[in-house]
Amino acid sequence: MCGVLGILGKMDLPMARELLLLLAHRGQDAAGLLWESENIFTESKATGSPAFIELPNDSPSIILGSTRYPTIGKRVANEEELDIFVGPFQSENVALTHNGNITNMACQTEREYFTDAQFLTDKLAQYLKENDNQLQDAIGKLSSEVDGAFSIVGIHDSKLFAFRDARGFKPLVFGRSKDLTIIASESTVHAMAGLTIERDVYPGELLVFSKNGKLESFSISQNALHSHCFFEYVYFAHPASTIENQLVYDVRFRLGRALAHAFKKMNKEPPDYVVPVPDTSRPAAQALAETLGVPMREIILKNRYLGRTFIVRTQKERNAMAKRKYLYLTDKIENKTILVVDDSIVRGTTAKMIVHDLKELGASKVYFAATCPPQDHPCYYGIDISTGKELIASNSRREDIRKYIGADALIYQNMSDLVNAIGLKDLCLACLDGEYPTEHARFIQEQIQDDVESDGRDYERVV
Ligand code: AMP
Repeated sequence: MCGVLGILGKMDLPMARELLLLLAHRGQDAAGLLWESENIFTESKATGSPAFIELPNDSPSIILGSTRYPTIGKRVANEEELDIFVGPFQSENVALTHNGNITNMACQTEREYFTDAQFLTDKLAQYLKENDNQLQDAIGKLSSEVDGAFSIVGIHDSKLFAFRDARGFKPLVFGRSKDLTIIASESTVHAMAGLTIERDVYPGELLVFSKNGKLESFSISQNALHSHCFFEYVYFAHPASTIENQLVYDVRFRLGRALAHAFKKMNKEPPDYVVPVPDTSRPAAQALAETLGVPMREIILKNRYLGRTFIVRTQKERNAMAKRKYLYLTDKIENKTILVVDDSIVRGTTAKMIVHDLKELGASKVYFAATCPPQDHPCYYGIDISTGKELIASNSRREDIRKYIGADALIYQNMSDLVNAIGLKDLCLACLDGEYPTEHARFIQEQIQDDVESDGRDYERVV
């Protein structure tokens, strides 16, 4: 998961930085802006939030932005590492950034790359050289060689371009006015800039925007089936974003309503309160509470400035971080039956800790619900769940998970309810059902099954 941004049309750099902040939830590790003035690329990058990017007083007419989430590679430890880990990247007359994950990078190059965006940039520059500087041909060549998920925004010959893989895993939308074009991972950016979204970039489509307002569309690599990442709706995207014509807030609300029906079928004593684990599951908790006819209470509050617990690397670090992540309204818990809702249970760290804390604070019963079905397969396309071993649902039966987290009931979303709530048929559900839409990911999966002893992230071990 990362956030990508492309702007064509004069804009003050601080304003571009402000727009990039709207993609900060997609990557809090580091961020970068790159702009072109008089055919020269300049960039500025910072660890942490886009707010820390230092900028000159300039108003270029073509800008790229990127927020980084370390799906592959490690976290950016210091300023010196910014250049190798953080996009946008440049090579010759092309610059780009992308969201997703290339699964077969190690098969395509002998050089060690720290990010797949840098790899894509170098490859594209090479193919442009070999193809008479024709972007359409170079992108065609690139897309025939790489496997995985990629939503790319780039600059070539002072034009802004966007390209999305043939499956359309990761979101990419654009909007235009007379003077301004914006391409971004999420439509909240357009809303803030005063643009309405024109449409999603189609899977397999290359769009090229010129400074004179011309827009060209090329069909590069169509696939009859699309594979939109369901987890964008469940977790990644901002609730105010519209992806593939579905408002994320509404999807989450429908997920909550479906969970309420699943809970009713269990014939358990009704809860006193429905309580969201902040922030993603709030719309689901509202719907759950409304449908069950009980109040929703925000008894669990986030220690907002702590950062992400998910992307620390060891379980010990994760437990310690999780412990510091939440605060509780302690006087509202004693003798209460509480139904907690989170978007997902991945390793089980968060659920176990919350159930334990609520019980220690006097809750009489704690039910735990997840808006997502059990994730029991790794994701090779950009979610940071890259080894099957770390997924609690891949190793344990449901009843064992319930016991492990200490809950009095465990409610998972059903697969069909999930699909109905999103309202799209063409979804990538690989981390739920193990059906990988692309060839190299299937190859990795086969290799992993023969290699159960190995440590490390699956796609980093297998080429
Ligand atoms: P876990 O504690 O390992 O079970 O992870 C579940 C928690 O992590 C939930 O509260 C989610 O909101 C959050 N989460 C799920 N997937 C991700 C992800 N890919 N990156 C960061 N956080 C996540």
